[in-house]
Amino acid sequence: VKENGKDDYMLHTGDMDPIALNKLTLQHDLRKALQNDEFLLYYQPQYDLASGQIVGMEALVRWKHPEKGLIPPGDFIPAAEESGIIVPLGDWVIEEACRQNKAWQDEGIPRIPVSVNLSIRQFSQRNLKGKVADILRSTGLDSRYLELEITESMTMDVDRASQCLKELTELGLNFSIDDFGTGYSSFHYLKNLPIARLKIDRSFVRDIQQDPNDAAIVSAIIAMAHNLQLQVIAEGVETEHQVQFLRSHRCDEMQGYYGSPPLGGEEIGKLLREKLNR
Ligand code: C2E
Ligand code: CA
Ligand code: CA
Ligand code: CA
Repeated sequence: VKENGKDDYMLHTGDMDPIALNKLTLQHDLRKALQNDEFLLYYQPQYDLASGQIVGMEALVRWKHPEKGLIPPGDFIPAAEESGIIVPLGDWVIEEACRQNKAWQDEGIPRIPVSVNLSIRQFSQRNLKGKVADILRSTGLDSRYLELEITESMTMDVDRASQCLKELTELGLNFSIDDFGTGYSSFHYLKNLPIARLKIDRSFVRDIQQDPNDAAIVSAIIAMAHNLQLQVIAEGVETEHQVQFLRSHRCDEMQGYYGSPPLGGEEIGKLLREKLNR
């Protein structure tokens, strides 16, 4: 891909193999999509298991493609990460989530934090703290209401990550470990990173009812989190049985289709307003 001035990108594809071409086209389209403002955020509510109240929400990006319609993140985040577009895209996600959350707060909707997924590439930026500080300042959102989600990654340098997280926690925001249990260095992370919350991966929650091993793993993660003074939330909760199980094991929160799927800004705005009027 050759850059032609600021806003123009030209593809010189020659006779590349079709798979490589496809990837390049996608990366090219992602850049254009960012310029054309084609991304939007959905929000999935997070519920307190004891009270049933909405106590948080996760921002999940979608690409509103002019021809192909709404594209889920799984179809473009990997290419965005590989090409580095995830950095400006991720900046946009943080800013949009903060702006939206502040707008809801200004309406008088009870204040809840918004969680934003952070990619490893965003982490490697030197000025991430400065960027986040700028976004909080310009949107006016109190840092208490922004949470960042990171995943365990084999390639992540824990010392560097720890340094980066410490700097960011100085701003007053919280971190959670996403997809907990699926990575390679869970305990190392837990011991060395300043985090507030674990998110139990959906793959463990899914078969709680059928698989005693999964049930044992989930209850062990909850107990361990609490012993470490961490909050714990279960992901991908879909059934009443899962809710009962999690509640009886004192899991703090849940997120999943049982509560609500991710919703567009307008729809979740409505849900939050109903909560206000209750
Ligand atoms: P994630 O962070 O683990 O997000 C949860 C995913 O599980 C979401 O998929 C959500 O729609 C889905 N989900 C929620 N509840 C249920 C349930 O009860 N059952 C099932 N089967 N699925 C459920 P989504 O929105 O397609 O996002 C997929 C992944 O894309 C996310 O996984 C996250 O890793 C990534 N992603 C999304 N937004 C961003 C972003 O802004 N930045 C980055 N770096 N990654 C993002
Ligand atoms: Ca997440
Ligand atoms: Ca997750
Ligand atoms: Ca995941």
